[in-house]
Amino acid sequence: MEEKSLGQRAATIVLGPAGPVRVRTSMTLIPFVVFVLFAFVQHGEVMLGLIDLTESNWLTAFNLGGSAVFYLLVRSRLSERLSRDPFLTLPQILFPICSITWSYAITGPARGAVIAIMVVTIVFGMFALDPKMAPRLALLAFAALASVMAWRGATAPERYPPVVESVHALFAAIVMGATAVVVIRIGRLRARLAEQKRELADALALNQELATRDPLTGLLNRRAMAELLAREHARSVRGHGPLSVALLDIDWFKRVNDSLGHGAGDDVLRRFGTVVQSQLRIVDGLARWGGEEFLLVMPGTARDDALIVLERLRAAIARGGFDVIAPSLAITFSAGLVQLHSGESQDAAIDRADRALYQAKKAGRDRVEAA
Ligand code: GH3
Ligand code: MG
Ligand code: MG
Repeated sequence: MEEKSLGQRAATIVLGPAGPVRVRTSMTLIPFVVFVLFAFVQHGEVMLGLIDLTESNWLTAFNLGGSAVFYLLVRSRLSERLSRDPFLTLPQILFPICSITWSYAITGPARGAVIAIMVVTIVFGMFALDPKMAPRLALLAFAALASVMAWRGATAPERYPPVVESVHALFAAIVMGATAVVVIRIGRLRARLAEQKRELADALALNQELATRDPLTGLLNRRAMAELLAREHARSVRGHGPLSVALLDIDWFKRVNDSLGHGAGDDVLRRFGTVVQSQLRIVDGLARWGGEEFLLVMPGTARDDALIVLERLRAAIARGGFDVIAPSLAITFSAGLVQLHSGESQDAAIDRADRALYQAKKAGRDRVEAA
């Protein structure tokens, strides 16, 4: 086991194991720390005689207790069972909206500063909530502040003069409105970035596909096959068993094109690929090597076993159902098969397979020649 420093162990205990839980938990500590700082400032105001001690204590208990509950719910992962949103974003925003509104009601002369703190609350949800929620939350925050302003203005006009409350309400409206606009814009920006990221990933996947697949048959292309062959060749050299390679060439393919058209020729190529592929093991590789030529790589397979595979392929192609492309159309192929010699390069082996293929053609086609 890896030795962990004291700091790392403490972080694991306080924040949870690295990963999403830790990210969420550390986020819940932000409001907690803010409320601790508030408690100090608030107490300073108590000492200055601006706030009543009992009222301040109740609010501090609410703030610290509430944010501690959020911390514990998220840290213990109970929140995952309670809600689809394990960060409990909405409650975590509604809670400080209550708390800040309450704070406004008891803070007295310094209450104007409280309005600015409401902004942080709305921004806090920006990363986890649908941006459409931002204006609603801003409106709610404003409504909460405006109500408490109206209430205090009406019930304690000497401490909360209605004229001052009206100015505060106006100020709150402007600040909350601006916050909503900013959050919406950032939300749109984030959505656009996410979309661009998706598009980029799609393009990358398509690029990968184009770079490694033959578009007509969906088989590996020549480039991907060269890589596969190099890999298997290296494995074979390292002692992972024999490696056999075969070149397959469809017989009289030009006639298919000439008599049935290029489209039917394409259909034959596709079907040929599908039928051959269906006969192979997962470790075998099949590529479209050229026009109507296919390269088959059989790792862990000696020449004689590979010969059996190719005879099976010949039988499969013979009953390959090519008559769906044109009535009574039958397809055969010729193949040159080699097992790689020790110390032989891939290119040399493919050359030998090509020569064996030529022999198969010369000997009358529809056959496998093993070199
Ligand atoms: P052999 O038995 O000697 O192999 O005769 P063949 O007619 O199969 O061989 P040849 O090399 O003379 O002809 C191959 C033909 O394959 C010529 C070319 O037009 C055709 N071809 C190559 N690529 C494609 C393709 O993507 N689609 C179609 N439909 N035809 C192709
Ligand atoms: Mg050919
Ligand atoms: Mg041919």
